[in-house]
Amino acid sequence: VVGKWASQLGMRVFLVGGIVRDLLLGHKQKDLDIVVEGDALVLAQEVGKTLSAIKFIPHERFKTASIILKNGQKIDFSTSRVEFYQHPAALPEVEVSTIREDLYRRDFTINSMAIEITYGHIGELFDPFGGLLDLREGIIRVLHNLSFVEDPTRILRALRFLGRFNFKLEENTEKLLVDAIAGGFLNLVSSARILYELKLIFAEKDILKILKFLKHYGVFQEVFPKAFYEEDYLKRYFNYTVEYFRLLKEMKIPWLHGVMGVYAKNLEGIEEFIKKYPLTGEEEEVLRQGALGIKEALKLLSLSREVKGVEIFETLTKLPPEGYWALYLLLDRFRARERFKTYFEELRFIKPEITGEDLKALGLKPGPLYREILHKIKMLKIDGVLKNKD
Ligand code: ATP
Repeated sequence: VVGKWASQLGMRVFLVGGIVRDLLLGHKQKDLDIVVEGDALVLAQEVGKTLSAIKFIPHERFKTASIILKNGQKIDFSTSRVEFYQHPAALPEVEVSTIREDLYRRDFTINSMAIEITYGHIGELFDPFGGLLDLREGIIRVLHNLSFVEDPTRILRALRFLGRFNFKLEENTEKLLVDAIAGGFLNLVSSARILYELKLIFAEKDILKILKFLKHYGVFQEVFPKAFYEEDYLKRYFNYTVEYFRLLKEMKIPWLHGVMGVYAKNLEGIEEFIKKYPLTGEEEEVLRQGALGIKEALKLLSLSREVKGVEIFETLTKLPPEGYWALYLLLDRFRARERFKTYFEELRFIKPEITGEDLKALGLKPGPLYREILHKIKMLKIDGVLKNKD
């Protein structure tokens, strides 16, 4: 549809960036990135109409637009830099150089390929920087020597792709990366942009591998101030279990689960993370409550005296699910772990079994007493559960 509309409008269109890389790797990608030699807004509008898009999001200033289809698929359209209409009789080389120019602004060769999808030219690969070969050989390579200086977030992107694809840094690229880190260029980037990259890292499958690269190249401490890197702990933490995926649904802000893991061995350090990055109030709250909740739970669950179910319940309800796994791995005694499991598997689901309706039926006047009674019953039940276990 895109290609057909483009040729009708006299434009050339290309798939670009990550989608091309992933297509060539045989991986799936959710979003489509399309570059248009022409007005992306016009094309996006026509394509959107034809495909009955549920959303059309134009950005007039940047000459870009996104459409979202009924199945949730997002398609981003952007206009390649050179104004196509100023050169109506452009020679093919010039046309190629327009997409070439767009590709030249990108980060690594493997992300700087395009596949033409204009009707009649579908499937032609544009690979001006040797991305295909690098993809085959598993190499991350920048397009020019100033790449990391121009945009130091590419340092983090490079390490993320290294971890994700199990690739290697090309020799000169590695030297440039090391120099850019040593030159402190990452400090020049706004913390909001670094935070954006960290969220992407925590959305990866193999987080540990990327953290190892951060450590290896000396950026771990920079992006996670005061975090204590202990590889054994991190290995266990990010070696996901079924439990984790189950938990993920309960977490309000899943990426903070990653932060909790990184800071588990120095919970005080979390304040530095909060200070450094522009977090939302809710994110701050989860991290603070997480750190505090873990500290309190560690103390309680590790006591050698008998611990009441109510005590466990009251301490652990304050801990957000983003901190469960960090806590669990920090518990080194069998008994403490068992106590946590009881909370995790049973206590937190316990309901009072009777409702306000039952109390009404007993003739009790509705009021604040209701909550108190229901809470009491719940606590009694909770105590019962633990007595049978401990
Ligand atoms: P992912 O699979 O993680 O989404 P992606 O390569 O699709 O990877 P995006 O962040 O969606 O990543 O970026 C799309 C494309 O935009 C990249 O493939 C790359 O060509 C370009 N790009 C993104 N960020 C940068 C950057 N900081 N500098 C240069 N080009 C970039």
